[in-house]
Amino acid sequence: MTPAAPHPPMLPSSYAWLDDILCCEGHSLEDLAQQFGTPLYVYSATAIAEAYQSFAKACTALEADVSILFAVKANPNLSLLSELGKLGAGFDIVSMGEMQRVLAAGGSAAKMVFSGVGKTDEELRAALQARVGCINLESLSELRRLNQLAQGLGCKAPVSIRINPDIDAKTHPYISTGLRSNKFGLSLDQALIGYQEAAALPHLQVMGVDCHIGSQITELSPFLDAADRVLEFVDRLAEKGISIHHLDLGGGLGICYRDESPPSPAMLMEALIGKVRAWSKARGRPMPRLIFEFGRALVGAAGVLLSRVVALKPQPNDQTGAAHFAIIDAAMNDLMRPSLYEAWHEILVVNRRDQQTEERRWDVVGPVCESGDWLGRDRPLRLKEGGLVILASAGAYGASMASNYNSRPRPAEVLVQAGQPVRLIRRRESFEDLVAAESVGLSLGPS
Ligand SMILES: *Cc1c(COP(=O)(O)O)cnc(C)c1O
Repeated sequence: MTPAAPHPPMLPSSYAWLDDILCCEGHSLEDLAQQFGTPLYVYSATAIAEAYQSFAKACTALEADVSILFAVKANPNLSLLSELGKLGAGFDIVSMGEMQRVLAAGGSAAKMVFSGVGKTDEELRAALQARVGCINLESLSELRRLNQLAQGLGCKAPVSIRINPDIDAKTHPYISTGLRSNKFGLSLDQALIGYQEAAALPHLQVMGVDCHIGSQITELSPFLDAADRVLEFVDRLAEKGISIHHLDLGGGLGICYRDESPPSPAMLMEALIGKVRAWSKARGRPMPRLIFEFGRALVGAAGVLLSRVVALKPQPNDQTGAAHFAIIDAAMNDLMRPSLYEAWHEILVVNRRDQQTEERRWDVVGPVCESGDWLGRDRPLRLKEGGLVILASAGAYGASMASNYNSRPRPAEVLVQAGQPVRLIRRRESFEDLVAAESVGLSLGPS
């Protein structure tokens, strides 16, 4: 037995080494690899439930009327949507496909909000027909278009306007959304015009104010600053005689990938609910309902990508300082975040008995024909060919961003719970899946 190593901070407690083998809720990852193959996404049902409950319990303790929504784009697997729906979550959707997924998983349309900067007529109509709880508008043209579409369907569309509070979320530029320079939402002045117009239009029903400033936010201050801007804006609306029922403060709470220590869900809820409560009291108004849209914070830590080392390719001359390559069977098409954002995913060896080998600094890469296909750079690891590793914190924006690049079938996904049979929630794709939408022999070019 190797001496007990400290529990890695990015792994939820449902992952632990038992007899030197990393297990998820008591299920050995070696057995899962054997049974389902690799690369394999593994999710801990308990970790997801605990993440949801940590928000829900904080809100209950604070006696606040809060809806916790799951941002479907973080992981749209039907089984995860079903699990989260059963726990009580609503859903934040950004496309018709996501709406259809939630409905297919048994989620309710009334507990959905529809966000997104480019909703098409078809999508807006489908949302109205399904009676989605709120449509978050992101431009004046969308506002007018929705009024027309609702008129055509003879209904009133429940709406919020997404305001862009011009707050720096201090996160990666690609996942920052609340700056003036980002494409999202309306500036406060434009939004004020939008609300006045919406209040006057017969087929729009003003429900709330919406904002979402970015993702993987690891400090409290951007959330508090954004909430201040939202509340100031609601005061401006009140001056114009426009009242709202809810405040949608978006998502974006970060998780630990390496050494970050984001505020806990309870801390965030306490701070934001406290702020809104104080604001309401000062105005002698009832507290508005609060809506949050969390993706990463609900499922990110719960999932890992399990992968097998295909080949080790050390540099012949250790003196050059060039990295050694460890080629694993997962690649940028399976987990895009390192290639896309230079994101860090901790790489951990599944079997600690593999550790007899010498520690070296490896560039852990996939088989895809791109130099950008890497999963971790310069990682001190004891690896052996055929051994298993995990990429930690891969439950959010992992499987959901996977592609078939290099004609690689997307990985299988399993949902694991202690004392229960492992559930295959997405089978590995086959060659037939890869070509299902294609055909040969049709000549549609000029004859
Ligand atoms: C992506 C997104 C979220 C969720 O972001 P997380 O960082 O995963 O919590 C919430 N709301 C909107 C509008 C989004 O686009």
